Amino acid sequence: MTLTLLTAGGCSKTSSKSISFKPGTYTSTQQGLAGNFDVAVTFSDHAIDSINVGANNETKMVGSEALRILPDRIIKNQSLNVDVVSGATTTSNAVIAGVKDCVEQAQGNLDALSSVPLTTAIYENYANLPREADVIVVGGGLAGITAAISAKQNGSNVILLEEKEYLGGNSALSTGVTLLGGGTSIQKAAGIQDDPDSFNKWILENSDNQKDPVQTGWIAYHSQELIDWFAKMGVNFDKKVNVTDESPVNRAHNITPNMATAITSLRDYMESIGVDVRYSTKAESIITNAAGEVTGVNATNFSGDPVKYTGKKIILATGGFGENIDMVAKNWGAEYGTLVYGGAKGMDGALLNNAVALGAATVDMDKPHIDATLEISRGITITTNLLRDCGGVLIRQSTGQRFTDEQASHSEVAAAKMRELGDQYYYEIFDNNAFTTTTATTTKAKSYINMGIATKYDSIDQMAIGLGVDANALKQTLEEFNSEVRGETKDRFGRQGFYKELAAPYYVMKVSNGVACTIGGLKTNEKMQVVNTNGKPIPNLYAIGEITGGYLVHYVAGDSLARSAISGMLLGIELKAN
Ligand SMILES: Cc1cc2nc3c(=O)[nH]c(=O)nc-3n(C[C@H](O)[C@H](O)[C@H](O)COP(=O)(O)OP(=O)(O)OC[C@H]3O[C@@H](n4cnc5c(N)ncnc54)[C@H](O)[C@@H]3O)c2cc1C
Repeated sequence: MTLTLLTAGGCSKTSSKSISFKPGTYTSTQQGLAGNFDVAVTFSDHAIDSINVGANNETKMVGSEALRILPDRIIKNQSLNVDVVSGATTTSNAVIAGVKDCVEQAQGNLDALSSVPLTTAIYENYANLPREADVIVVGGGLAGITAAISAKQNGSNVILLEEKEYLGGNSALSTGVTLLGGGTSIQKAAGIQDDPDSFNKWILENSDNQKDPVQTGWIAYHSQELIDWFAKMGVNFDKKVNVTDESPVNRAHNITPNMATAITSLRDYMESIGVDVRYSTKAESIITNAAGEVTGVNATNFSGDPVKYTGKKIILATGGFGENIDMVAKNWGAEYGTLVYGGAKGMDGALLNNAVALGAATVDMDKPHIDATLEISRGITITTNLLRDCGGVLIRQSTGQRFTDEQASHSEVAAAKMRELGDQYYYEIFDNNAFTTTTATTTKAKSYINMGIATKYDSIDQMAIGLGVDANALKQTLEEFNSEVRGETKDRFGRQGFYKELAAPYYVMKVSNGVACTIGGLKTNEKMQVVNTNGKPIPNLYAIGEITGGYLVHYVAGDSLARSAISGMLLGIELKAN
């Protein structure tokens, strides 16, 4: 028997299965990545009419995207034959399990629903859309989005290819220390005296002149331009400018309320001005013509079919290679081959390797960059801002003692010390200071609690029992730390940055070494063109963001987002001139 099903949008769909339900609304509570949420499904006699997901704390621009995409897909297809949304597995599984539970409550036939093929297709309209543009941007993180917007604003038509079903990459997961700059209007309003030349001088010297001066110049002399440009697109910064690793002047401008919200605003703006975004489209390789000019990319679409996108200029913005741990070990040394990656899915370095195969040069590939604060049960990189801006500390699991200056060199010193000491894991302790520093830090700290990875303890004794460390040792560690904060004793590890006394309640996470951001990548020139090993530009090939090298060495908080955003903005302008 053939049954006509009504979709939520009112258009009819035909299924070959007879599926019926006991009409009504049913609810199922499911465990997501950051706590429980309700899935409420309304059925009529022969259709799933609506799916509503209740209040939740799922990660913005990751889990939140599964909550947006999956209910719509299930309803449009009247099918439970749906896959998880890539990169958001836990949340996706919770939604699917919730709908299945409701189907059972409504006495529907789960097997039948699970075998309905996805006939409405997902992104089927792409087949009728152009695959050629002035500019093809590959990768929809901060670098790709800013480049696409700027190129469009400067007169190019633009297609942006993103392998996932949502934008943001690692940019959306970051805390949002997004702009380093000197002499900005925000610093001025906060009473901070600074100027672009001083900033440029400091950032170069701080890196022992290892950062590419062309790239430091982009950031030093265009940060105000970025602030003004972002404001027009609804992206704003905190009034407070924070300390930045070793900087003598407060220079860390924080996106508010957080990066995921900023990415949503930029995405909406980008789509409103007509940038053509193709989701679930993974670029596989770069296409060149007989003259060696880059003309496009070979990609794979949602159904796994090959598609070609061609353009006059191709911009690679596919992020770092941290997820490809073999590549990490090959470039940094075999001893790094056991590091856990704590960032977004899909950062496999494939396009970087492909460009190298075409003759592209690389820079800083052998320079490791490891984090001290990878949460070990979930593999999530914990923001270093909890140590730097919120006064958190790290202790050894074996002794309950501190072992390092937690803040030094963006926690790289701590990471190296951890490797040397060799404890299986370490504890990161923070307190209520985390909720009063910046909006972004507050959001992050709360999300760690919601995810169940930060455990609250009301006293040192309780914490000692929970962590399995000696209570006297832990008391001594915290008493010593607090007396150092009060200036009664000197910090024996030389910690200098912001810190306040730690007080109950305490929040604790199990952490170890991990990789979140890679600092080496393609070599580019002042026009952001990818150059070959002879220093000559590869015609029509550009690269920006974490796929490029030259700047992130001697990493300072905010380095990467600042470079991604500013280089994206400048590249759009640059392409107009060409
Ligand atoms: C937890 C965490 C916190 C961080 N906090 C900060 C911070 O506070 N400040 C800071 O400056 N930096 C921070 N970083 C680093 C920073 O987020 C990244 O270095 C930066 O966002 C890189 O931007 P991007 O646009 O180059 O790449 P991404 O934002 O990673 O975007 C790359 C995009 O390309 C897509 N893609 C990849 N391959 C393909 C392909 N073949 N085809 C199509 N699409 C593809 C990806 O899906 C992704 O959407 C943090 C990183 C992590 C993991």
